[in-house]
Amino acid sequence: MTKKIFFSIFITSVLSVAVAMFLTVSGQQTLKEIIRIFFYIFLVVCALSVILSKNIVKPVKNIDLDNPKPRKSYKELFPILDRLKAQNGKVNRQKTELINSREQFSIITENMKEGIIIADSKTVILACNSGAYRLLGIEPLKKGQSIYALSQEDIFRRCIQDAMGGRNAECLLKSEQGDRKIIASPANSAETINGIVVFILDVTEQQKLENMRREFTSNVSHELKTPLTTIYGISDMLANGIVKPEDFTDFGQQIRNEAERLIILIDDIVSLSKLDENSVPEQNEPIDLYSLSEEILSRLSKNSSDRNITSSLSGEHIVFTGNRTIIDEIIYNLCDNAIKYNVDGGSFDVRISHIPMKAVITVSDTGIGISDEHIDRIFERFYRADKSHSRKINGTGLGLSIVKHGVSYHGGTVRVTSSEKGSVFIVELPLK
Ligand code: ADP
Repeated sequence: MTKKIFFSIFITSVLSVAVAMFLTVSGQQTLKEIIRIFFYIFLVVCALSVILSKNIVKPVKNIDLDNPKPRKSYKELFPILDRLKAQNGKVNRQKTELINSREQFSIITENMKEGIIIADSKTVILACNSGAYRLLGIEPLKKGQSIYALSQEDIFRRCIQDAMGGRNAECLLKSEQGDRKIIASPANSAETINGIVVFILDVTEQQKLENMRREFTSNVSHELKTPLTTIYGISDMLANGIVKPEDFTDFGQQIRNEAERLIILIDDIVSLSKLDENSVPEQNEPIDLYSLSEEILSRLSKNSSDRNITSSLSGEHIVFTGNRTIIDEIIYNLCDNAIKYNVDGGSFDVRISHIPMKAVITVSDTGIGISDEHIDRIFERFYRADKSHSRKINGTGLGLSIVKHGVSYHGGTVRVTSSEKGSVFIVELPLK
């Protein structure tokens, strides 16, 4: 490049000197003509400069800045181009690393069932996985939208505002899609808040369990309180000597009944809690379902004969391997109900059979039946269909819950069909 510059200066100088010498030597031209001749020289020099400079700049213009090849340019530019090449390499490496880590981040977050959102300090969403949109039940937003556009709920807005103000915040969003827990944390560096990270968790199941637990606790307290209140009332009257001696037996009977009710209730609660916590010891043993049913029917024979109810047992001696106490409770509760909710002089049948890979226990009765409005709820804890009628019949509302839990403990299923003529409970247990 230097050579070319020197060469153009040299040509221009030679040209000017030659003309000047000619004019001086000839001495014929007037000043005006000399000026004109210099003007022409000036034009020629300008034209030459344009042509030469284009020629000089061409190789510089042709440099591929993304991939500079120093050896194909002016040697004065070699060091700059070498550094440019090294710099380009570094930038490309960093770019690849950045793309890789973004891809990795997106693969990880897209496979999360939780929602994750990252927003900058102006609340603009920088990243939002599809889990977040799914959990909030909305379509993906366009780029550059504010995090506030994700939900119109006040509680959500306040949660985000708290995080933007530098405080960790949590809230619960309830919607048709279910219950969502929002956890928003500020992303601070030194004193400044660079943005926030928001997690969205599906807590529907958790909330349901929590509600069930609360309901259970309040039901238990109520169910325990009722017999205790009666016992307290009667014993108070006895203590104050206001009960006539001829009424002693009657009051004594009442205390015994209520105490019995308490014992049954506590036994049921204990059974259910054990099943709930999966704390039943794994004591599996072969059980002949037919023989066990026979034993249970004989245990219940007094209850049925008191009301003139006949029982029958049919089917095969199927051997099922499981927990004897739980299987006993399942069959006992179903038979007990078949007696309790039967009509005087009615009957019920226990049938043990099998289908491929499954043992089947069917308990059918000629009882009062269960109406459609109640049938879906009878397996719930403390649920008693037709409360006014059920109240006359001893029960805790926990029997069928124990049946359901006990059956699912063994990997089986229980279903019921019912009409005014009676009910049929079918338990299927997998044979190993
Ligand atoms: P409990 O018998 O202690 O009330 P369960 O959980 O065993 O509680 O039963 C729940 C409810 O389901 C009962 O209160 C009763 O209304 C209904 N039920 C259960 N078994 C029968 C049956 N065989 N026939 C009619 N109703 C029944």
